[in-house]
Amino acid sequence: MIDSLGPDTIDQEDFSVIRRSLHTWPEIGFEEINTSQLIAEKLSSWGIEVHRGIGGTGVVGVIHGLDGGKRIGLRADMDALKIEEDNQFAHRSRNPGKMHACGHDGHVAMLLSAAKALAASRNFYGKVNLIFQPAEEGGSGAAAMIADGLFDRFPCDAIFALHNWPGLKTGDFATCPGPIMASCNEFRIRITGKGTHAALPHHGNDPIFAATQIVSGLQAVITRNKRPIDNAVLSVTQLHAGTSFNVIPDTASIGGTVRTFSDKVLDMIEARMRSISTLTAEAHGCRAEFDFIRQSGATINDEVQTELAGKVMKKVVGAANVDTQVEPTMGAEDFATMLRLVPGCYAFIGNGNGEHLESGHGLGSASLHNASYDFNDALIPLGSRYWVALAEEFCSQEN
Ligand SMILES: [Zn+2]
Ligand SMILES: [Zn+2]
Repeated sequence: MIDSLGPDTIDQEDFSVIRRSLHTWPEIGFEEINTSQLIAEKLSSWGIEVHRGIGGTGVVGVIHGLDGGKRIGLRADMDALKIEEDNQFAHRSRNPGKMHACGHDGHVAMLLSAAKALAASRNFYGKVNLIFQPAEEGGSGAAAMIADGLFDRFPCDAIFALHNWPGLKTGDFATCPGPIMASCNEFRIRITGKGTHAALPHHGNDPIFAATQIVSGLQAVITRNKRPIDNAVLSVTQLHAGTSFNVIPDTASIGGTVRTFSDKVLDMIEARMRSISTLTAEAHGCRAEFDFIRQSGATINDEVQTELAGKVMKKVVGAANVDTQVEPTMGAEDFATMLRLVPGCYAFIGNGNGEHLESGHGLGSASLHNASYDFNDALIPLGSRYWVALAEEFCSQEN
């Protein structure tokens, strides 16, 4: 589909044009065929060594600097979301039901722009590994790349990632040492009782009654079992049972999510949820099957690398526009999986409050995962300058 844009619609120098073409043709996790093709072609055209098919559709570009120095990994995610775009401007999505509503189109553009500059200058010692990751949105693209030997084939002394952040002033940077994003976990509880006539409840074991007791009981894990100073959230988001007003059904199901900043707290929550679910069901003559799926761990920034990143951000946009102690969020990020193996820093770059949206935009908010969202192209040169300065600064350190 990238081909259908025609070769002369992409100005080699204009990364906002590339960003908008990615926005027009979004591809979801592990289906980033044309996106990775475009990335690989661009990198090759600038003389960068390209490796494809890492973790499915992942791409790694390697820029060799002068001998010596360190090896840095810079990550951009490439996938879109299953959202029908509300915007009507010219670069809106032309792939039905798919949309770059998290700005990964912009992340790719910022890293491509930096790649071109770094390849042209090679003003650094060591090596820059450009990591274009598939399936960040709950798809475990990071794990897929790692399983394919990402860090064995392209060893990195530290890794970095940048995410646009609506609500933060355009072009401001923010990060913090330690946890910056939470772990993302899903739970599913299936309760089996014994259905009966609604007027004769004593002939059955009501799974709906058991389910409601479980829903209330689960909140006690947060208020009664967790240390008050530890952060965690437990949200029940699904509760399904029954089809008729006069029938007590056989089964009921509960679903939801748990977010934490530490494995220790998560282990405790999972264990307590399991016993509350199974024992409460049992107390009401029912049986509960409890599944807990750990999708991604907490994103934990390394103190040393975060300090370095903060220093570089201040150089790029000035100290007044950088917050190096930003409040962590309970959202989750697949980059966490990479940070478990290699120290590094995940940071935010302000996408503004929506002033950048062009006429024809949808009427929803300009927040991430919203059908009216659009990446702010003003960030491309800023993000690119941060990547270049960070790579030069990091790689030129003594081994
Ligand atoms: Zn997202
Ligand atoms: Zn995202």
